[in-house]
Amino acid sequence: MSLARGIGHAPPCSVEKLGLRLIDSHAHLAEDRFDDDRAEVLRRAREAGVEALLIIGYNVESSARAAAIAQHGPSSASSDSPVLYATAGFAPHNVDEADEEGLAAITAILEEPRVVAVGEIGLDYHYDMPQREQRELFDRQVGLASEMGLPVVVHSREAEDDVVAILQQHVDGDGLAGVIHCFTESSRMAERAVELGFYVSFAGILTFRNAGDLRETAARVPLERTLIETDSPYLAPVPHRGKRNEPAFVAEVASALAEIHGKSAEEVAAITRRNARELFALRD
Ligand SMILES: [Zn+2]
Repeated sequence: MSLARGIGHAPPCSVEKLGLRLIDSHAHLAEDRFDDDRAEVLRRAREAGVEALLIIGYNVESSARAAAIAQHGPSSASSDSPVLYATAGFAPHNVDEADEEGLAAITAILEEPRVVAVGEIGLDYHYDMPQREQRELFDRQVGLASEMGLPVVVHSREAEDDVVAILQQHVDGDGLAGVIHCFTESSRMAERAVELGFYVSFAGILTFRNAGDLRETAARVPLERTLIETDSPYLAPVPHRGKRNEPAFVAEVASALAEIHGKSAEEVAAITRRNARELFALRD
């Protein structure tokens, strides 16, 4: 498949003019890197057509902030901001903080308004972090999601087999649903996620010149199982690479995916929007 970047890659202003309606399924907007201009960032997201976004937590503090920001957001998309939702959970990188008290705090945040998923949770074997403890924490939080009837937002890095094994138990037993976010694993892993009934979410990495393998994987995941995200403030897509990422740039992910699937950006926006609404039961 030849998908050389730079061919017909629209600059952000022309993406805006397409009038896309998008959902950014993963943004760390509670980070202090957005404290100075969060309102501006949200306004730019709205201008770029983002009608809803999920603010993602990774420990108690970030989850509580995500929930608070979401609750202060508009209850329907206004001219100033997309509708905001939040998630709560302990990421594998925060395994050290996940004691009983912390898990009780996460459970309480999950019961708050506008908190729609357990996440981000998962396994990351890339870094030197205790793997057994990560698995125990992941299993426990997947169990919590099952009990509460919530979907999961999963981080998986170099941990495919164990992620699938843990998810599988809860899919079979409890009808668990979720997404593998910022997907960078193998195309076999994408297949297994789809077999589990999960969604696969692609971020701005899709636009990187050296991401040919990932684009091939994305081409194989049915759009009906695909979500899009920015993972702001990380991994800004081309042509913003190296800058702080923000939800407005999810339009770049939609157009990259459109090119990969040979569809219009509008179609990709519409399908991924519907998928996000369905998975996270977004009402507004
Ligand atoms: Zn994330």
